[in-house]
Amino acid sequence: MALKALDIYKLLPKRNCKECGDPTCLTFAMKLAGGKADVELCPYLDEAAKSVLGATTRPPIRLVKLGIGERSFSVGEEFVLYRHEKTFYHPPGIVFKIADTESPDRISTVTLRVRDEFFTRVGADLRFNGIAIENASSSAEIFARAVETVEKIADLPLVLITADPAALAAALVHCGTYRPLIHAATSENRKEFCALAKQHGCPLVVRAKTIDGLAQLTRDCTADGVQDLIMDLLPESLQAFIVRSTTIRQLAITRLAPDLGYPVFLDASIMDLPDAAIALGITKYASIIISSPLSPAVAEAALTLRQNIYTDPQKPIQMNPGLYRVGNPGKDAPVLMTVNFSLTFFTLQGYLESTRLPCFMLIVDTEGLSVLTAVAAGKLSEMLVKDSIKKFAVEEEVSHRKLIIPGYASPLSGRIEEATGWKVMVGPRDAAEIGEYLHEEWKR
Ligand code: SF4
Repeated sequence: MALKALDIYKLLPKRNCKECGDPTCLTFAMKLAGGKADVELCPYLDEAAKSVLGATTRPPIRLVKLGIGERSFSVGEEFVLYRHEKTFYHPPGIVFKIADTESPDRISTVTLRVRDEFFTRVGADLRFNGIAIENASSSAEIFARAVETVEKIADLPLVLITADPAALAAALVHCGTYRPLIHAATSENRKEFCALAKQHGCPLVVRAKTIDGLAQLTRDCTADGVQDLIMDLLPESLQAFIVRSTTIRQLAITRLAPDLGYPVFLDASIMDLPDAAIALGITKYASIIISSPLSPAVAEAALTLRQNIYTDPQKPIQMNPGLYRVGNPGKDAPVLMTVNFSLTFFTLQGYLESTRLPCFMLIVDTEGLSVLTAVAAGKLSEMLVKDSIKKFAVEEEVSHRKLIIPGYASPLSGRIEEATGWKVMVGPRDAAEIGEYLHEEWKR
């Protein structure tokens, strides 16, 4: 059972000495209650208080970091079962798998793809996260060579998939300091795998078919000194994965089973419906998803889904305010103003592209609110439009002074004209009608 901030406060030393980085013990207690601080930060806690607080204030699912440097990423530290209860914090890493039996050229091609490929959506660059190398050859030497090939090309987080401690040891020679994820410790090889994970400071996947088996393995591995664990549930079907991962998530976030408070691993490439497995993994609590290299269409769909699920539902997705070009607009092109709610932006942009009339989109900062809400809340005002025209140097881009505003912003038309000195034209309420509107109303 999680403690409330005031209960935690009662257990703190109340020195208000700031050594934990917070101004008061109460602030520190509030952070602990939210799982945003570690009890170890307070040097004055006695052991009894530490053990009570440690068990109840630690995030229910451990944060585990893979890789080092720019492309490293962390998974876990989630608090809720449903995204709408709060938000999900750490998107799953989607990792492309290659076998060590593939040619060096093929291994290089996949590695370069993960290193370089990205899709830009809603102002964010979406990427795949790393490379999983599978010891399909059963040869330690070939496995190590494949890992070396990847390592020479890119500093990407790696997943090393092998059941053989000798092959693992050989591969770790090339990447041990880069925190690759080791897959996987079982009840048979745990001792050797834990020793290697500890020696190289690597996170480790534990693998068992039953929930009890996983809990036993996490207990044994932590007793062996490896704390950064991820659990492979060995699902025989997608249904089995959903049932097990949901059960584990429930037990972990309610703190009923602390031994299951670790992120979950899913190898979608070995499931019957790999593309569906990726989608289900994203939505149903997988933190590391292994996949064969995806076609461009599926790749974009997977990254888009991940972005949507791991966006805070309480914060609208926003575009960066600015002056955007549609096509190659000249000095006489129309300027259409709208808000920075991403759905509004992309809908309008899509319709404008289909008109084939080059134009400018002036996106103003309404903190992600839609036009109607922004007008009602007073976030869209004549001064905001005036400042945006100046800030984004719109007057230098066009020779006319006409501004098309959304239909729902019509109550502001007179004030915008007055504040900006531009002639305001009120566009349609429905973006689908913008093509017809421009055709009939836009006079160059
Ligand atoms: S270090 Fe401990 S005693 Fe000092 S302010 Fe923080 S919680 Fe309070």
